[in-house]
Amino acid sequence: MSHPSQKIPYTVLIVEDELAIAENLLLALEAEGWIVDISRDAHSALHRLGRDSYDLVLLDIGLPGMDGYRMLQQMREDMRLATPVLLLTARAALEDKRQGFADGADDYLTKPFALEEVVMRARALVRRSKQLSDTALVLEYGSIRYFVADQRVWVGGIEVKLSRKSLRILELLVRYGGRVVSRQRLEEYLWQGEPPSAEALRSQMHLLRKTLHAAGHDGIETVHGIGWRLAGRQPE
Ligand code: CA
Repeated sequence: MSHPSQKIPYTVLIVEDELAIAENLLLALEAEGWIVDISRDAHSALHRLGRDSYDLVLLDIGLPGMDGYRMLQQMREDMRLATPVLLLTARAALEDKRQGFADGADDYLTKPFALEEVVMRARALVRRSKQLSDTALVLEYGSIRYFVADQRVWVGGIEVKLSRKSLRILELLVRYGGRVVSRQRLEEYLWQGEPPSAEALRSQMHLLRKTLHAAGHDGIETVHGIGWRLAGRQPE
């Protein structure tokens, strides 16, 4: 756990129609601290990809309706998404691999695979793509734009000055893309799990809320007993 980027939860979309496989993958990746969503067909997966940002897609080729190859073509050509894609498939022929890479896959695993290998490859793919993109990476949610490299934040086109702690909270909230971030996760991210007081997070959250409100943002919703999430939906 020495690598600092491991503290940032990566988001992965699993596109797999066999629920048992999807759930095993989900458990293995959640154990890594990743945020995992599952789509069971290409259409719902494309919808999610258009709405939320993901760090990685695990894509099964044999799907009902639109198959994985066509979905990958749509991601790359129509949606212009550069998200790394790891293909998972029962087909092992060289021709299938050629097709997958031609369509824009980044890596390939043949079923049956060891979960540990999926996790290792997933980690490597995300790390590589982060290294390539982090300098220019912009996280966006609703009217918030967060420039990762220089740690600057714009709300609705106006730059907002934030303290270091506020920046880190906001980064996590934006990376979660409207999902709830738990108190434990935030305290882990801000203070390695040892906040200076029981109220520390609440008062940091209060400060960030005030700043966002002043900039005209809807702010942060409290989900009682669980955590917080950003208000204001990502435009569809
Ligand atoms: Ca399948």
